[in-house]
Amino acid sequence: MGNVEEVIVIGGGIGGLAAAYGIAKLGKRVTVLEQAQQFGEVGAGLQVGPNGLRALDELGVLEDVYKLAVFPRKHIFMDALGGTELSAVEFGDKFKESFGYPYIVIHRSDLHHVLLEHCRTLSNITFLTNHKVTNVEEHADFVELTCANGETLRAEAVVGADGIHSAARKLFTQAGPVPSKYVAYRFTVPMDEMTIDIDWDEKLTWIGPGIHLVQYPVRHKSVINQVAVFKSYRYNAESDDWGSIDELREMFKDCCPTIQESLKFVQEGFVSKLHDIESLDQWSTNRVTLLGDSAHAMLQYLAQGACQALEDAACLVDKLRSTSSVAAAFKEYEEERIPRTAQVQRGARKWGEIKHAEDEVTRLLRDTIMLNRRPDDYTYLEWLYKERKTASV
Ligand SMILES: Cc1cc2nc3c(=O)[nH]c(=O)nc-3n(C[C@H](O)[C@H](O)[C@H](O)COP(=O)(O)OP(=O)(O)OC[C@H]3O[C@@H](n4cnc5c(N)ncnc54)[C@H](O)[C@@H]3O)c2cc1C
Repeated sequence: MGNVEEVIVIGGGIGGLAAAYGIAKLGKRVTVLEQAQQFGEVGAGLQVGPNGLRALDELGVLEDVYKLAVFPRKHIFMDALGGTELSAVEFGDKFKESFGYPYIVIHRSDLHHVLLEHCRTLSNITFLTNHKVTNVEEHADFVELTCANGETLRAEAVVGADGIHSAARKLFTQAGPVPSKYVAYRFTVPMDEMTIDIDWDEKLTWIGPGIHLVQYPVRHKSVINQVAVFKSYRYNAESDDWGSIDELREMFKDCCPTIQESLKFVQEGFVSKLHDIESLDQWSTNRVTLLGDSAHAMLQYLAQGACQALEDAACLVDKLRSTSSVAAAFKEYEEERIPRTAQVQRGARKWGEIKHAEDEVTRLLRDTIMLNRRPDDYTYLEWLYKERKTASV
């Protein structure tokens, strides 16, 4: 048995690294345990709205994130079948004035890299890869973690940032992820190979019955990130044999020519069967808390999973800074974050239902509302992007 570490963060994804960096800046010794052989991110693009940028700013890494980001001028919602515009959200000056920050899209690895490099500037962070935590056990004075490689480690406090299949979450619930029957294919295309005529200063979401396609540029607009999502009618809880590319093509077959052209580039590879979890009513004890997907995995339809993980990290650091004990900080953190993240989880499910609506009346009502809203009307985004409340000064 080695030393008792001050804080162990389980998981070196975006949430875990953001928390590790913020906590280490408070002067605490932090060890990050990552199951993989090396730190990294799966998938290509990530959208980060003003609330995620605010959290990155609070953590002190925003400037470096901006250097690698693309700033779309607007988000356009298109009718996937007819190929016509339904609505838009402008990300110009009024948006920035309303929420204090712009809207960015960025390669996942770039955001992860910025966080990792910031962590590496701090000598009080230790990284241990090839450490898959299999059990978390809380005692009166410490927490003991068992790893698949046979090691056990002890910590004064633990942050479980170990994603949707979290080992740490088992302290609070035995319930697993909830399948949505939807599948996402994520694929990138070099800009100079892209054959469709689109203004890449914009982010596009094409919506249709049981489907959507998201497209935006990353890496100084050298690459287009695309995510094609569809409902699988072959979903089977007992098997993994559903959600194939053939099914994708079948679901998108009535879409407009631009989508057909875009889908020529779809490949096997980054395929995700989409799940979320039911909201928890507790995710902290005196010495263990959860963060990010581990605490509140959500469907990606509001592009908020990573943003909420970043908000978690900023809030947790704030509570640890302003509260006398770890137990009190974890309690305040949980009290602030559970209602907020539960609301976003519910919102993501709801928005998924609306954008994937299959019956004609719902689609007609949705499209009428979308066609009638102004691109600089941000009323319905306020709950998501406006500054969160913090208890401390
Ligand atoms: C198709 C798609 C598109 C998305 N788009 C967006 C978007 O545009 N904007 C947005 O904000 N969010 C988006 N999300 C959500 C976002 O990707 C996640 O919410 C976010 O990555 C969660 O970060 P995390 O650090 O909590 O978890 P993860 O990224 O899952 O990181 C967990 C880390 O823990 C490690 N780990 C897991 N188990 C263990 C263990 N037992 N022991 C040790 N290490 C372990 C993993 O290897 C990983 O490194 C999207 C999701 C999907 C599926």
